[in-house]
Amino acid sequence: MTTDIPKSGGQVSRQTVCDLAAASRILAAQGVVDGFGHVSMRHPSAPGRYLMARAIAPALVTPEDIIEYDLDSNPCNANGRNSFLERFIHGEIFKARPDIKSVVHSHSPSVVPFGLVGVSMQAMFHNAAFLAVGVPVFDIREKFGATDMLVSSGLKGIALAEAMGDKDVVLMRAHGSVACGATLQTAVFRAVYTEVNARIQHWTIALAGSTTASLNSGAPMAVLDAEEGRLADAFNQGAGMRAWDLWRSQVRAQVNW
Ligand SMILES: [Zn+2]
Repeated sequence: MTTDIPKSGGQVSRQTVCDLAAASRILAAQGVVDGFGHVSMRHPSAPGRYLMARAIAPALVTPEDIIEYDLDSNPCNANGRNSFLERFIHGEIFKARPDIKSVVHSHSPSVVPFGLVGVSMQAMFHNAAFLAVGVPVFDIREKFGATDMLVSSGLKGIALAEAMGDKDVVLMRAHGSVACGATLQTAVFRAVYTEVNARIQHWTIALAGSTTASLNSGAPMAVLDAEEGRLADAFNQGAGMRAWDLWRSQVRAQVNW
């Protein structure tokens, strides 16, 4: 069976493509992705298309590796380049959530335990305010039985997007997580701080467990509540650019783009 190659949504500025390539390297430098993981962004002028690197380790991505896809995750301009198997995560989230313009998928290690046990991720500090609305867990086994755990088809991507619902972060049982945003910069910020928040939550639980007083009090952790989360997240969407500017300049110091 031959599939028609979808038409491109049109030219994307060199700066946008360079920023997307840099986002991969930033996520690698921040310990969110390693040899695996990927970041995408919706096409700036064609909402039915998105951009993502070819299948390559994130720290090696260059602007020349960026491929355009339709929302069924068919490449428009692969030209012999291989696509990520799990690109359906991105296509189906972009399809389900018009407000989302960028998606990060990673296996960042501190987050994984929260998909394995019945402890929900909570917003431990202001930079992770976006988690205060709650963090759902997608269990691929519920709909697909025993699998290789990968979101390697449109149907699996749809199930993941359904589990995420109206949230911007979703955990994937025994696999990893997804962080999204209304801009590339926000999605990267959230992916970084989801991992940092997970570490802080592990430390907090350990610290609480080490004191007899807190063990006996049964008091909940003093995390951000929903309203604090909403206020701090709104602030971070602007202030987070300071972190992006730092990370972007660090990439620019290594490459000439
Ligand atoms: Zn994965």
